[in-house]
Amino acid sequence: MLSKVILQANVDKVETYFERAEKIVIVVHVSPDGDAIGSSLGLYHFLNSQGKTVNIIVPNAFPDFLRWMPGAKDIVRYDKYKEFADKLISEAEVICCLDFNALSRIGDMGASVSAATCRKVMVDHHLDPEPFCNVTISHPGISSTSELVFRLICQMGCFDDISFEGAECIYTGMMTDTGGFTYNSNDREIYFIISELLSKGIDKDEIYRKVFNTYSEGRLRLMGYVLYEKMQVFPQFHAALIWLTKDEQKRFQYIKGDTEGFVNIPLQIKGIRFSAFLREDTEKDMIKVSLRSVGKFPCNRLATEFFNGGGHLNASGGEFYGTMEEAIDRFKQALVRYEDLLLKD
Ligand code: 5GP
Ligand code: MN
Repeated sequence: MLSKVILQANVDKVETYFERAEKIVIVVHVSPDGDAIGSSLGLYHFLNSQGKTVNIIVPNAFPDFLRWMPGAKDIVRYDKYKEFADKLISEAEVICCLDFNALSRIGDMGASVSAATCRKVMVDHHLDPEPFCNVTISHPGISSTSELVFRLICQMGCFDDISFEGAECIYTGMMTDTGGFTYNSNDREIYFIISELLSKGIDKDEIYRKVFNTYSEGRLRLMGYVLYEKMQVFPQFHAALIWLTKDEQKRFQYIKGDTEGFVNIPLQIKGIRFSAFLREDTEKDMIKVSLRSVGKFPCNRLATEFFNGGGHLNASGGEFYGTMEEAIDRFKQALVRYEDLLLKD
């Protein structure tokens, strides 16, 4: 049995919003990941089964390894079809904000969503949600937004309306946000939910292959290169750093998503508890920062203090405006500042 994690009064409100609405829009954060796409498609399939007209709008491109997901072809990109997307947003009767906690996380789309006068619902698992929605379902203790979507549908009493396609999408989001159930995944109810999704006929092993084993040759060669040439280990701080310039990305025919997960690799070294990946963005003039930790080290605090960012205890990120050398210096300053916490555990 599943605990009723979501406040039932909120479930009831959302159910009423859905019942009264014809047109529903789902929005997710910039550079959508498996959980953003999985949770939105999971909800999309459910709402379709209820006869709703649903559109998912993403701020920009999502990785190729998620394109196989049922419904992914219908996702609208805000950066490509702004006018059309703005029309959908302004005509929506409900806007569902999935996998993000602040309007600043959806880029340019934030202004349109903010201006829309319809009801808004947040379903998310990031800390400190901003109060811009009529209903805020925020559970940082839950490992993925996709899991929350599953719980929401079940608490509405609609488990039977989850289709095979919907189950595939929800499973994908749960799997990607936990690294294939290797972190943030000790809650036993996760496995109950997986069992329920399997009852819909999903092939979890095939989903794993479709998501994790479909990389380009360039990505593997780039991985070899960064691990051999670009990884610096700081054993005295239990930390490691990888950095990548624009030129290097060009050299390996980088396409979006190619460096996904690189930040986790140094954590496989014995004793390393904190890992950072700095990448010069190919579109914006900034360095994207990805941070990961194991155990109690709060990489989100470090992200906020040093890299204008935030996120979860063990997975966070931010942005740095300056040269790569300056970003690396900043990382080293952070190590010194956080030495006590890095050496604890
Ligand atoms: P990733 O390293 O996969 O890009 O991001 C991991 C997590 O860090 C995200 O789920 C998000 O919670 C957080 N995050 C990444 N980039 C930013 C950022 O620029 N600002 C904030 N506040 N959080 C971020
Ligand atoms: Mn997520």
